[in-house]
Amino acid sequence: MSSVPPPTSDDENLITRLEDEILALELENNRLQQILRDSEYDRKALADIQKLANVGTWRLNHLTYDVELSEKLTAMLDIPDGKSSMQWSEFITALDPNDELKLKQSLRDVFRGGNAINFEHTVTRSDGSLIYVRHHCETHLNGVGQPLDSIGLVQDITQDKERAAQLEVLSNKDDLTCLYNRRKMNQALTEESIICMDNGLPLSSILLDLDNFKQVNDRFGHHIGDEVLVRVSEAIQNSLRLSDIASRWGGEEFLILCPNTALGDAEFVAERIRQAIEHIQLSCDHTITASFGVGSLRCIQDLPEMLKRIDMALYQAKKAGRNCVRAIC
Ligand code: GH3
Ligand code: MG
Ligand code: MG
Repeated sequence: MSSVPPPTSDDENLITRLEDEILALELENNRLQQILRDSEYDRKALADIQKLANVGTWRLNHLTYDVELSEKLTAMLDIPDGKSSMQWSEFITALDPNDELKLKQSLRDVFRGGNAINFEHTVTRSDGSLIYVRHHCETHLNGVGQPLDSIGLVQDITQDKERAAQLEVLSNKDDLTCLYNRRKMNQALTEESIICMDNGLPLSSILLDLDNFKQVNDRFGHHIGDEVLVRVSEAIQNSLRLSDIASRWGGEEFLILCPNTALGDAEFVAERIRQAIEHIQLSCDHTITASFGVGSLRCIQDLPEMLKRIDMALYQAKKAGRNCVRAIC
């Protein structure tokens, strides 16, 4: 029986070296696995942050002109098949298919200048829905001023835009009648007077006040008073042209703006509304009437004076026995 020769000192040295190398490799393996776990964690955290913040990102490599899209951006833009990498031209086409927003040109300027820009635009998704986005883009240049890469942050602000639009509508309307409120009417007065004066067109206004309205509340209750205000608003709206603007100016006062309308024509409109109000059939079987003051604008500076004139004309209508139209030119 042959016996195994005892290890020489060279063998022992080799074994020790190999054991050291194995240990070093295991340590390196652990270190790399930790890096991998960390980067996977970072990637997941970034994806979560993008989802929470409604922000997607893209990165353009200026050597290859390849764009990498984050998962969130792919979903936000509704990129077919969830594709996360594409050529720049394909990406721009997804954002701005008909070049209406001139995004290609704007972003090219950012690449050349190496500066950052913020802008807002819309994106039509493949299902036809429209989203509003806030876009931040910046380019990193190399030492000799050539673009290395560009990054973009795209935030979906559709909900904010929709909420702002709803608030805008609400802030312009009177709750009860849904007509413009006084704040919005003041704005319309200024805007329409500038347009009419600039174009040499007449502009007239009608102020109407319900007659003895306090008695309606006292006799039938506040809820019937409210019903009257709604019915009067409907009668006013139905008697106007699309270009005319009606508002609830105060409690039971309504101001109507008639662009491109001379004083005499506005008097006809007021008379039409007067009759419409008189013919409103109420659940309480009560006839309501209103008195009217009509006036016209002479120049833009004349706006406060015109409001005073129609107030005076309304006062004259009340004094004349109510339920009638008076005009002051
Ligand atoms: P006149 O013909 O001189 O205008 O008499 P009037 O009774 O209409 O005028 P007055 O100013 O004495 O009363 C206006 C009334 O309008 C009093 C107020 O309670 C009522 N009013 C104002 N706003 C509202 C509202 O939002 N709802 C209801 N129901 N009543 C309102
Ligand atoms: Mg009044
Ligand atoms: Mg009144």
